[in-house]
Amino acid sequence: MKIIFLGTNGWYDTATGNTICILIRANEFDIVLDAGIGLHKLDNYIVNQDEKPVYLFLSHLHLDHVYGLHTLVKFHFSRGMTICIPPGTKSALNLLVNEPYTVPLAGLPYPVKILELPEEGGRLPFKTEAKALVHKSVTFGYRIAADGFIVSYCPDTGYCANAVSLSRQADLAITECAYKSGQSNESWPHLNPEEAARIAKEAKAARLAMVHFAASTHPALSDRRESENAARRVFPNTIAALDGMEIDF
Ligand SMILES: [Zn+2]
Ligand SMILES: [Zn+2]
Repeated sequence: MKIIFLGTNGWYDTATGNTICILIRANEFDIVLDAGIGLHKLDNYIVNQDEKPVYLFLSHLHLDHVYGLHTLVKFHFSRGMTICIPPGTKSALNLLVNEPYTVPLAGLPYPVKILELPEEGGRLPFKTEAKALVHKSVTFGYRIAADGFIVSYCPDTGYCANAVSLSRQADLAITECAYKSGQSNESWPHLNPEEAARIAKEAKAARLAMVHFAASTHPALSDRRESENAARRVFPNTIAALDGMEIDF
């Protein structure tokens, strides 16, 4: 299994990177976490688009997580794409990925299926858990088992028990880190590095990769290094992800 960070910014693109998108290349599947602008780089890595089905997990519909969806039309995934979304968000997704904004899902050059998780998670060919996180709109985190490894993905959330549960003993926990040390905002919940590290520590995860560094709080890569150092004081096996970074299992 290989994990490739295609976009690691939160909120908007800057010189530090594109908005959030992560590719998990498993033996039988390609799994994509969120669809920020980094999504357009998928075909740099999925060169043979006839080889595997693609599963795209959307955590929520805030635009920094979905505004890469208008690039879906450039791909030709002949084995189809399944888009997994939080409960109750199907009509909003269909409104967004449609005329007059972009090519409708039904008009893409490959078949697309939508599953609302957790109810329809049993239709996936690999084991998945989906749990609600704490954010401004309905947001779900995921725990995915493939090739004998567990990866958890907890974007856009305040510290919560569900994020710890999803990350329990994960080989790799991926969390957001929108805020810097000491920052928090109860009316717009996000994690700072110490809270991200606390989740990985309490979950007894093997490693933590932090993503979704808000463009406003982390304008330079040196800000990411500061957050990485702060997180490592709580959970030493932490990295601050960068666009293009790869992790092999
Ligand atoms: Zn976000
Ligand atoms: Zn959000």
